[in-house]
Amino acid sequence: MKKTVKDIDVKGKHVIVRCDFNVPLEDGMITDDIRILSALPTIKYLIDAGAKIILLSHLGRPKGEAKKEFSLQPVADRLSELLEGNITFAQSPEVIDDNVKASVAGMKEGEVILLENIRFRKEETDNDPEFSKQLAELGEIFVNDAFGTAHRAHSSTAGIADYLPAVSGFLIEKEIKFLGNTVADPARPFVAIMGGSKVADKIPVVKSLLTKVDILIIGGGMAYTFLKAKGYEIGASILDDKSIELAASLMKEADSLGVKMLLPVDVVCASEFSNEAAVGVYDADKIPKELMALDIGPATSALYADEIAKAETVVWNGPVGVFEMENYKQGTLAVAKALAEAKAVTVIGGGDSAAAVAQFGLAEKMTHISTGGGASLEYLEGKQLPGIACLMDI
Ligand code: ADP
Ligand code: MG
Repeated sequence: MKKTVKDIDVKGKHVIVRCDFNVPLEDGMITDDIRILSALPTIKYLIDAGAKIILLSHLGRPKGEAKKEFSLQPVADRLSELLEGNITFAQSPEVIDDNVKASVAGMKEGEVILLENIRFRKEETDNDPEFSKQLAELGEIFVNDAFGTAHRAHSSTAGIADYLPAVSGFLIEKEIKFLGNTVADPARPFVAIMGGSKVADKIPVVKSLLTKVDILIIGGGMAYTFLKAKGYEIGASILDDKSIELAASLMKEADSLGVKMLLPVDVVCASEFSNEAAVGVYDADKIPKELMALDIGPATSALYADEIAKAETVVWNGPVGVFEMENYKQGTLAVAKALAEAKAVTVIGGGDSAAAVAQFGLAEKMTHISTGGGASLEYLEGKQLPGIACLMDI
């Protein structure tokens, strides 16, 4: 168990909070502010508790340079609306300079200051100890609430904790509870659904989940490497050549562990990666050479939905088809609906899976939707995340 903001006295103290304000932008406008909203409980708690709050975040990949298009200004504006003006944007291309230090020194209880994009400094991603120390000198307590970057050992996510007492915010607390505890001690049957396109990244997660789940469902781009490993023709479907052997050994391992592994039994195929292409449903072992499978078929959807309905715990990472296109969204919709209707604890990790659930209007029906893509994967894989490992234990 990690200490949270509730386990430490923050009144009158300068508290440095690492948030994940890495929001999607289009023409300088925020298109989805869920990450900002998710940070509010911790910020508001600290305001009410009389802390002096210094917010840090990255935005995009400015690669150590102060680039205008990566400024946190849009985030500052949105936060200002949400906090009714109680926030100052200490805008410096160097992130920390004498003016910033003076502003911080002059803060009153309940005041909030946002610093500029922490990745304007290349020392950040280098986890440079000197820079970590400079950051730490701005405050007396470090709070990490940036789950999305908790798998990175950077100055503002982990290095800073070498110099300050470090605790989690409410968002990280919630992620630990649902991703960590659910997987560590699941109500059974425990079903995991793995899909998406980052096959090489996700196969290690499949391996780790095998020792924990009762049923492992494979869909999306992942599935075709497994079908190939079974010796099926997969046509022009997405394939990770290097993982075929591993896929084969995972299927064997599943067998010996008594884990039921489900692969698509039918698939929706198209002549090209386009919503305009001609489509047809084929048995999974009869994918025509010239076609690519872009979704699971109706029989597979029914089979998966049936297992989900019987589950007590479901973890889902990765859409089972190209849900962004109308013709290939049915499988992902069926899985999302099955989760929405399930009696199980339902946990969703992965940016695109979360986007799919939101697009279908089913987000409210899930127990927990993780805010971290890569971080949630690594957490599910059972890895120690530097941004969590550095926090004080209870
Ligand atoms: P997440 O963000 O949920 O972890 P990924 O990033 O791994 O998921 O993958 C999401 C992408 O996978 C989606 O954009 C989707 O279109 C794609 N995808 C799903 N099934 C297939 C498929 N059969 N062929 C190609 N791409 C697919
Ligand atoms: Mg993704």
